Amino acid sequence: MSYNIDNKGYYGEFGGAFVPEVLYKCTDELRRAYIPIIESEEFQSEYRALLRDYVGRPNPLYEAKRLSEKYGARIFLKREDLNHTGAHKINNALGQILLAKKMGKTQIIAETGAGQHGVATATVCALMNMPCTVFMGETDIQRQMPNVERMKMLGTRVQSVTSGNMTLKDAVNEAIRYWCCHPADTFYIMGSAVGPHPYPDIVARLQSIISEEIKEQLPEKAGRDYPDYLMACVGGGSNAIGTFYHYLDDERVTLVAAEAGGMGWDTDKTAATIHSGSVGILHGSKTLVLQTPDGQVIEPYSISAGLDYPGIGPVHAHLAQSGRATIYSVNDDEAVRAAYELTRLEGIIPAMESAHILAVLPKMNLKPSDVVVITVSGRGDKDMLNFLNNKQYAE
Ligand SMILES: *Cc1c(COP(=O)(O)O)cnc(C)c1O
Repeated sequence: MSYNIDNKGYYGEFGGAFVPEVLYKCTDELRRAYIPIIESEEFQSEYRALLRDYVGRPNPLYEAKRLSEKYGARIFLKREDLNHTGAHKINNALGQILLAKKMGKTQIIAETGAGQHGVATATVCALMNMPCTVFMGETDIQRQMPNVERMKMLGTRVQSVTSGNMTLKDAVNEAIRYWCCHPADTFYIMGSAVGPHPYPDIVARLQSIISEEIKEQLPEKAGRDYPDYLMACVGGGSNAIGTFYHYLDDERVTLVAAEAGGMGWDTDKTAATIHSGSVGILHGSKTLVLQTPDGQVIEPYSISAGLDYPGIGPVHAHLAQSGRATIYSVNDDEAVRAAYELTRLEGIIPAMESAHILAVLPKMNLKPSDVVVITVSGRGDKDMLNFLNNKQYAE
């Protein structure tokens, strides 16, 4: 069984590139260009230097002693929260803008829901002096003002989207529409391991730095270069595939992911795509989708804006379907409780997204000899109001 992409852009039955005819040239150009560029020495030396000096990598692999004591295993945290801009998204945005430049593109577009990918993209566009437009649903603009202001300060144009529910799905549709009208000069920086081939593979390669570092850092701390459990939260799945990438074929490692259950995966207020979605096509990819029996996309719900997506990266649909990864659905209240717990035990306030994977710990049966690596995808500063408003869950 292969867990990597095949030469047609599929992970098992999932993936592919279902794009309108006008975009076929764009995705095909990207498909032919990305591997030679990403694997070139020139790209790698620029990318690695920026990851080190600009992002602050390698970030630590921290042994969380009090958390370990509580759950009876050796638990290590991969600290993506310590990156510049506060999450893993910068790894990907930086790589894609270098790719855009090498392909001769002169303007950047992106979409954002919570604003985290928008901020990461606006950041690298300021750094590289590239004009940037970020599409964002009007509902999200209202909910995520601080990130909107950040993007504007960074010099990005934030384009309000007022179609549909005015959230992430509608912003993606609008960004794709814009791309169709400006295919020659525009590079679309995709924020997660989703979208038409080759995006899921581009994002996986750029985020694979996470597992590359885990492999380098683990021997000194745990005496071997693989953990028993690798754990990450999944929205579209970029931090998770980055965490798993170099261990996909290592069956000694159990892969564990958490998706956002919202009020419960079997309610209509959920973003748990793997638990309650069905096969469909969303944003150019064949994957699992939250949809009605006649194929209308259902508006997802989660307390965490970054996990609030009605689809899932095709690689994770495949990892779940093949049984390679175990996927938990974690509800809002469990995530908030886990965030308070990590904060009080370790002095680390995680992002609401990252809290979802921490909340899986009480559901597992760990042994004292188990080595567990959990990716903390981002920091919780942006979620302070959300934590305060839901404090009752932690009590
Ligand atoms: C966006 C985001 C996520 C979810 O995105 P993935 O592509 O699934 O990683 C998770 N954590 C944080 C902190 C985010 O900003």
